Amino acid sequence: MKFEADLVVFNGNIITMDPQKPLATAIAVKSYKILAVGNDEYAMGLIPSAKRVIDLAGKTVLPGFVDAHTHLTVSGIKSMHVQLDKVHSIEGAQKELKKALSRYSKDQWVLGFSWDESNWKVKRYVTGKDLDEVSTEHKIGVFRVDGHLVSVNSRGLQELNVDSDQTGVEKDENGTPTGVLKDIKELYDCFQPSPQEIHQGIIASNKMANELGITSAVDNIWAGHARNIRDAERLNTLTVRMVINVPSEHIDHMIALGLTSGMGSPLVRIGGVKSFIDGSIGASTAATSEPYADSKYNKGMLLMSQHEFSNLARKAVANDIQTVNHAIGDEAIELVLTAFETLEDITTIRKQRHRIEHAEMITPNQIRRAAALGLILSMQPNFVGEWQMKGGLYYERLGKERTERMNLFRTALDNGARICFGSDGMPYGPLYGIWCAVNHPSPQGRITVEEAIRCYTMESAYASFMENNVGSLTEGKRADFVVLSDNILEAPLNSIRDIKIEWTIVGGQVEYSEMGS
Ligand SMILES: [Zn+2]
Repeated sequence: MKFEADLVVFNGNIITMDPQKPLATAIAVKSYKILAVGNDEYAMGLIPSAKRVIDLAGKTVLPGFVDAHTHLTVSGIKSMHVQLDKVHSIEGAQKELKKALSRYSKDQWVLGFSWDESNWKVKRYVTGKDLDEVSTEHKIGVFRVDGHLVSVNSRGLQELNVDSDQTGVEKDENGTPTGVLKDIKELYDCFQPSPQEIHQGIIASNKMANELGITSAVDNIWAGHARNIRDAERLNTLTVRMVINVPSEHIDHMIALGLTSGMGSPLVRIGGVKSFIDGSIGASTAATSEPYADSKYNKGMLLMSQHEFSNLARKAVANDIQTVNHAIGDEAIELVLTAFETLEDITTIRKQRHRIEHAEMITPNQIRRAAALGLILSMQPNFVGEWQMKGGLYYERLGKERTERMNLFRTALDNGARICFGSDGMPYGPLYGIWCAVNHPSPQGRITVEEAIRCYTMESAYASFMENNVGSLTEGKRADFVVLSDNILEAPLNSIRDIKIEWTIVGGQVEYSEMGS
């Protein structure tokens, strides 16, 4: 029988992540799907009739990466505004904003993101006065890195018209608002992108993701963005398969409409409901059983009570909806485990693939309980590189001993828990994440390269109900794969983060190529 393939790649070192056929040298693609995975001899037969042929010249191929925890849409929209993460002072931020002014009309908000005064010599917040020095004619709003604080200039403050007596509106000694707004309900009123801006943001973040080898991503969206993602699919501009997590306050809407996890198309599907049980270690708000090392009386905070979360879990289980639960501190993780342990139907719970997001401080005992419930630990090796390596922020917040027992990937796998990997955008980059996981500072955290690849491909696909479509290079699945500059299984562990993505192929289409074609 003769098949006409759309694309044939051959002469490769193909690591399929499919235990039935772990290694191959050629892949044939037809109508977005993998027609065959095999050897060059077989591929030669297909080449004469193939529309496109790529000689891989011995390069290593992996399944496209599945980033199990992102904020892709929002990251994309932010990327079109002023980036303040690399400035070193208020003056530096003012300079970047001034440079950008001409890009904005007077009725648009000039927005900046990700400033972090903790990295500056003068450690104080940006104020409205600082921003008035940039312009009093434009409305300006700049968000701190954690997204919980925005500073606006005088024109911006006028426009927002906030009740200045509420807590969170910072005032000077005369009782005049300084322009610094913390966690108030109007916090994001200056950041209301139009559908066109959202679409541009989706295109920008998909491109960024493809460049890093990401072909599928779980996107924790703002409620209205589902429609924009669907619009992008219709306009053919989506180049990453998107799984949309819905904020948990909308669970009743999902139930009323009969929507369940896993529903959708090969490009856009519904994930779970996303809840927040606690905060973060950086902000000292992750809920811990022992106080923070740098603030003796602080054990962080729970954002939901046991009662509230148990109700959410019961409702989700009864309606076949996956829950996706942000829990970093061991107390927050305890609350999630308790809720599921109290429910009776373990078989149903296991089938529904409920997730604990981050699970950074999970203890070995909690790991075993999570494994028994089939809860997936959706972890971020990328955080390890950012904050858990020697001298990182976690040492300051939690002390050496506790820092060393965080992100226990090894213990989790050894105890039969399922882990999937994601970046949370801090920073995006699966190869960086794999580097972090195999160079973890503690032996209880360190896993092998193959295990780390599996967590960033097959396991993330499983965690998002996509394992029949993506996650391994298997006949019949979508043709999503990446070509690497080096052999990741033979590269020195320390150099994995320097490996380049040379090609990213999504559904048989080349969506990124180092050569630019
Ligand atoms: Zn997140």
